[in-house]
Amino acid sequence: MDMSGQWHESAATIAPRTELFIGGAFTGAADGATFTTVSPRDGTVIAEVSAAGAHDVDRAVAAARTAFDDGGWANAAPRHRKAVLLRLAELIRENLEELALLETLDVGKPIGESLRVDVPSAAGCFQWYAEALDKTYDEIAPTSRDTLAMITREPLGVVGAVVPWNYPLIITSWKIAPALAMGNSVVLKPAEQSSLSALRLAELAAEAGVPDGVLNVVPGLGPVAGAALGRHPDIDKIAFTGSTEVGRRFLAYSAESNGKQVSLELGGKSPQLVLADAEDLPAVASAIAWGIFYNAGQTCNAGSRLVVDARIHDELLAEVVKVAEGITVGDPLDPATEMGAIVDAAQLDRVLGYLDIGRGEGAEVVTGGGRIRQESGGYFVAPTILDGVRNDGRVGQEEIFGPVLSTITFTGEEEGVRLANESRYGLAAAVWTSRLSTAHRVARSLRAGTVWVNTFDASDVMTPFGGFKDSGHGRDKSLHALDAYSALKTTWINL
Ligand code: NAD
Repeated sequence: MDMSGQWHESAATIAPRTELFIGGAFTGAADGATFTTVSPRDGTVIAEVSAAGAHDVDRAVAAARTAFDDGGWANAAPRHRKAVLLRLAELIRENLEELALLETLDVGKPIGESLRVDVPSAAGCFQWYAEALDKTYDEIAPTSRDTLAMITREPLGVVGAVVPWNYPLIITSWKIAPALAMGNSVVLKPAEQSSLSALRLAELAAEAGVPDGVLNVVPGLGPVAGAALGRHPDIDKIAFTGSTEVGRRFLAYSAESNGKQVSLELGGKSPQLVLADAEDLPAVASAIAWGIFYNAGQTCNAGSRLVVDARIHDELLAEVVKVAEGITVGDPLDPATEMGAIVDAAQLDRVLGYLDIGRGEGAEVVTGGGRIRQESGGYFVAPTILDGVRNDGRVGQEEIFGPVLSTITFTGEEEGVRLANESRYGLAAAVWTSRLSTAHRVARSLRAGTVWVNTFDASDVMTPFGGFKDSGHGRDKSLHALDAYSALKTTWINL
């Protein structure tokens, strides 16, 4: 049997968890509501998942608060929380194939990527925060001989995590690993397109020894379950990743309820700024192609704008097209597939709609340009490159979130930097140049939370990730994320 056969067989027999996970147990929604989850690889129904309503969110928050107040997790010795989270990392690795399959079926990403990237990164994230948490010291301020001013870190309490569908396990782990490491309780709402891996993760967390109520998962619709979390008076912080539009709603929810903290990781329209002195254009082209076509372009920091100097435009674009046309788009369960599906029918329509808008704005479709593999029943779009895009037009400015590269041409470094920065977003940017001083100068000028020089998409749990401008203001990952899940307390002692 070939490998793809093996995955199809496993897919046919997998029985995902589909109920809410509250207080350490699976439970249906109070009103019995469910929603259907469809696999984008062939349009078939995978499961009916319980849809949390406001009442269920109340139950989950109450369970989280009770567990927090109980102190079994919040007040446990750091080395205890460390051992549990290390065990969770191990369990994620032991269940690699099942988690990868859930992820691939649910969101249509290639099984090879789920196996090599998504699941191992999630495990690595839990491991890293587990290892960090008992090496995080408190401080004493150098006030005077007569006083002792201690600065200690305490958990915030109950954290609500609301996440998108593009990297379900990875983004979930970026939120809940540091939140749990610092001793908080968590209520997680996965995106309605991708609840399955989160439910399995909760079960593994319980097996690892995370106490009942410390991690709860409430799948459900954004405007219902997401809004109920956002407006809940007993949640101390919302950690959100998703679109800029919905992110702003969470600021309003906070203002309308208890003024809870909100951290926002939002959208992007990241420029690949290629200067005329960039070296090794075939290598640059490969990084540019994979910077947009990886995960079918459904990546917040995707390099969706190719901002290229007119002098090398033709040569570079020809190389990027070559890479794009060599990408194997196929069944996500086939290990040979390099690019999978668009997450659902609505997102497919949105991407195709942007292709029409691009044509209407005068852009030329150099390769791709439409839906493919329709006979599979799945939602696939060919790797697409648009040339002659106006940076100030809609396809130059709006986040498409699909496999569509927009090419914008400039003359000279100054114009290139200006166009790269002319965006409401500021999540990431790359500059390609062979001059060291240019690299540093341009990197400083680019308004983005991450800047890559002569590379794209380098990432590590050790480095902060987040945006400038409309891309949000939180930072996931790194030791800095621990600050986002703890409150500082100052204690003065008269000596
Ligand atoms: P989305 O904003 O539609 O949904 C994100 C989450 O919010 C989901 O769980 C959803 O159910 C919930 N939600 C939706 N409407 C809601 C409402 N009215 N009230 C409360 N909650 C609501 O985003 P998406 O389509 O799932 O994901 C794609 C977006 O996420 C893109 O814009 C992408 O750039 C962004 N993203 C950002 C990062 C980052 O780190 N900056 C990472 C990945 C994705």
